[in-house]
Amino acid sequence: MKSRKLLMIPGPIEFENDVLQSMAIPTPSHVDPDFISVFSNCLELFKDVCQSPSGQAFIVAGTGTLAMDMAAANLIESGDKALVVSTGYFGLRFAEILKRYGADIDLLETEVGDIVSMERIEQQLQAKTYKLLAFTHVDTSTAVLNDAKQIGALGKKHGVLTVLDGVCSVAGEDIKQDEWGIDVVLTASQKAVGVPPGLALLVASQKAMQAFEQRKSPVANYYADWANWLPIMKAYENKQASYFGTPPVNLIIALEKSLKAIVKEGIDKRVERHQRAGKAMRAALKAIGLEVLSKSDDIASNTLSAPYYPSQIDPSAFLQGINQEGIILAGGLLPDLKSKYFRIGHMGSVNKGDLLATIGAIETVLKNSGHQHELGSGTAEILKHF
Ligand SMILES: *Cc1c(COP(=O)(O)O)cnc(C)c1O
Repeated sequence: MKSRKLLMIPGPIEFENDVLQSMAIPTPSHVDPDFISVFSNCLELFKDVCQSPSGQAFIVAGTGTLAMDMAAANLIESGDKALVVSTGYFGLRFAEILKRYGADIDLLETEVGDIVSMERIEQQLQAKTYKLLAFTHVDTSTAVLNDAKQIGALGKKHGVLTVLDGVCSVAGEDIKQDEWGIDVVLTASQKAVGVPPGLALLVASQKAMQAFEQRKSPVANYYADWANWLPIMKAYENKQASYFGTPPVNLIIALEKSLKAIVKEGIDKRVERHQRAGKAMRAALKAIGLEVLSKSDDIASNTLSAPYYPSQIDPSAFLQGINQEGIILAGGLLPDLKSKYFRIGHMGSVNKGDLLATIGAIETVLKNSGHQHELGSGTAEILKHF
């Protein structure tokens, strides 16, 4: 058995070897002409991935939370009204971030595993005028997929800036930022984008940039302020160097490698591949008698699954058993249900072999803990889907 374990959590994920190897070079200067061209390509390629030719890309050192912080800091002024459509952990985080910049927040929530209906969102948008609406595309705490296209359309209709937290969806789920009228798409490197942790990535629409330019008060976050970063991004786009904060040079070199591979695979093909992986995983879990948090298949994410433990299973013994089988899975994230479910990431480079190994490990450990199922019934579902 190879000593390295298979990392099947919802980020960080398994990274491609060529992406990892591209980082193992002496760090060039951030004003080196070759690096300028790499950074410039990254900005363009990332807009391709978000399908936002008209957008403004920002790539800075940080995590997904910084990308959320950046959207909030630059678009919110004290007293602005914001609507957060929350389906779990990261929706609540977004509400906290927006509040920090003085936003007057309304929160729409729903049952665990469900999405807030479009009717409820529209009612709220009719009842009150908001500047910004934030939602989580794939909720990493529940494995629920929101309908970004419809929410984008509602935002457009009601003149609200829509912000999509795509940390667990960009480069895995379908996103057509321009066509759907989403004003900010944001993510981090370590999930479906396929690069080790350390990059915050964001594309802002021209409408979002105008809202930023029309601010009356300065941005209350120095590092995240677009006034500091916009000239830098523009310079690199125009193949010139400029400095505000040192770019994480090696990570950006790796990002170019990964984004090129994503675009080469083709966004539509890549999304289809994730859809197949998601479907296969859910069918396999069902076959071995595990229920998932997401209420129905049409709102189930394709980048991760969140199954409940069978009632007699001890969560930490289960995850440890899986680990001994060579697979790393994640526990629950919702505080109230933490010990009731676990999470399986299946995004980025994930393939049939990874899914088989994962379901195989789950089947083995469940069988050893006395859970009744026909050994191989889950793996058979994976095989049927590929
Ligand atoms: C992981 C995640 C985040 C936070 O990203 P970090 O890089 O950990 O800061 C935010 N939103 C969603 C949907 C996520 O999955």
